[in-house]
Amino acid sequence: MMTFLLSFCRSFQILWKNRLNQGPGLRNQTFSVLYSYFHFSRKERRYFSLTLPFLQNTKSINLLISKTISSRKNGKNRHRQESFVSPHPLFSAGTAKKKSEMLGYKKDQQHCFPFSRPVLLPTKPLNSEEWEKVKENYEQKDIFENWMMAQMIKYNCSIDIAKSLLSWKARKNNGIVDYKLLIGYLTLCVSQRQTTEVIDVYEIVKNRYKTLELEGYTLLIEGLIHSDRWREALILLEDIKKVILPSKKNYGNCIKGALLNQEMNLAWNLYLEMLNQRIIPTWETFQDFFDFAKGVKNSQFERRLLDILLYLRHNQMYPTEPFAQSIKAWFESIPEKKWKGESVTIHKSGQCSACGRMLESIHLNSEEYEFLKQRVLKDVLDGGDQYRKTTPEEINRFENFIKSCPPFDIVIDGLNVTKMFPKIRESQTLLDVVSQLTKQNLKVLVLGRKHMLNRSWRWQKSEMAAVQNMAYCFFADNVSEDDAFLLYATLNSGNHCRFLTRDLLRDHKACLPDDKTRHLFFRWQQGHQLVFLNYYPGKKVIFQSVLTYDTVVQTTGDSWHIPYDEKMVERYSYEVPTKWLCLQQQN
Ligand SMILES: [Zn+2]
Repeated sequence: MMTFLLSFCRSFQILWKNRLNQGPGLRNQTFSVLYSYFHFSRKERRYFSLTLPFLQNTKSINLLISKTISSRKNGKNRHRQESFVSPHPLFSAGTAKKKSEMLGYKKDQQHCFPFSRPVLLPTKPLNSEEWEKVKENYEQKDIFENWMMAQMIKYNCSIDIAKSLLSWKARKNNGIVDYKLLIGYLTLCVSQRQTTEVIDVYEIVKNRYKTLELEGYTLLIEGLIHSDRWREALILLEDIKKVILPSKKNYGNCIKGALLNQEMNLAWNLYLEMLNQRIIPTWETFQDFFDFAKGVKNSQFERRLLDILLYLRHNQMYPTEPFAQSIKAWFESIPEKKWKGESVTIHKSGQCSACGRMLESIHLNSEEYEFLKQRVLKDVLDGGDQYRKTTPEEINRFENFIKSCPPFDIVIDGLNVTKMFPKIRESQTLLDVVSQLTKQNLKVLVLGRKHMLNRSWRWQKSEMAAVQNMAYCFFADNVSEDDAFLLYATLNSGNHCRFLTRDLLRDHKACLPDDKTRHLFFRWQQGHQLVFLNYYPGKKVIFQSVLTYDTVVQTTGDSWHIPYDEKMVERYSYEVPTKWLCLQQQN
């Protein structure tokens, strides 16, 4: 195992000396505070308070507290009363909330309050003696410091407290603080956007190590972009590239740094670099572009933002609600273009309720259908990969079976569909679905596995026999890939044929070679995939109606329609958003 050691105090001393020559300033003041924790904390920092949400051993803690009090002999005890938190009745209503307020936790972190073990979390910086005492009460001595730092990160402690921990550790260890602890401290500084502290740690790390591991780089990039030394984040990004592909977060932060400093071209180039590496930006990164470009008059950049929207179209991505709001705000901020944005729903027919335009049809014309069919059969089915779980003999058997049947109207993934209702017997679900569809004179194909024909409680022989009577059935080996058979049978039957599965067929989509084919596939999928809406066993199965319009980012030049995900609405993977942003140019 690799261990990193750091001459922590020595580096600080060097830094301190360098800074002294720069004259007084905010940075130096902050630095002197930092410095004092490491060198004078014993004399000057006498605050000690200890909070024990779950006091297991009151005696020892009281002893600890009284020891601490008795050690304050020189009278600097002004804060003593406030610093001590007396034990609370633990299980009374509102206690956890109150406690977390006293500890200064963020409101949204209150729910994380631990109910499993005692936490020895100081509320003020401690001196070395005090830290020793806290450690005495902790069982696993060898992980104490890192555990403590992890708690501080979890509860977003003040960095002064974390600094006092490092100071104690450095004193004890000849000025050496290990890498992990330092990175913990950096995590805290970055999350609280303590930019000055980040730069100080950055200097230490830069002097001490030639390279870091990814977490260190990621934290430094995130911290540096808010400082005037943000360009150095780009150097760190280059350092990462020497070893590994940077993450979307690394790129996203560098882009944010460039945008914060109005370096639009740099931001754009980083974005293109990401796409070339096939890294999909986060929603936050997309949103940053629109937020920072708001009110900026730059027609080149305008075109680039429209390119982002087209990228979403080609990849069937739906903006989050906050991002949709940013898009709207940006459009409306373009001078002289008079864009007006509205949040709307689309009528079943595909007509926008705000501007009255018809959305793109989901229906594939015969040319598009043939194109897709050939592509899918070639790239997905004959690609080799999709059949890796089946045998050439079985492929042969399946193809011969399909040739012997008329085109189907509905293809059902039997195993997948029956799994949706775990409380209901599988064969009953399947029979209900099949009998309802065949009553409408539809030709149904059920794809299943051989084990479904074995007698069991879940697969009743009589019900399976009834299914086989009403529908065409193909039972594959128990290890076969269902999706490939499903796609083959459906596409081979023609443009009218639909299919029933809860699967999103993502793997297949990913196999497709280009944006155009992927979009066609997605349109075909939305227009042909049946989805259960409701099911009353023995009575009725209700399917969601298949959409007539294409749910995808679209434009006519003087209008944009952008489907987006609402904040509080959870969407299943096979569903599409129902909310749209309608943008139109006012003439
Ligand atoms: Zn509209």
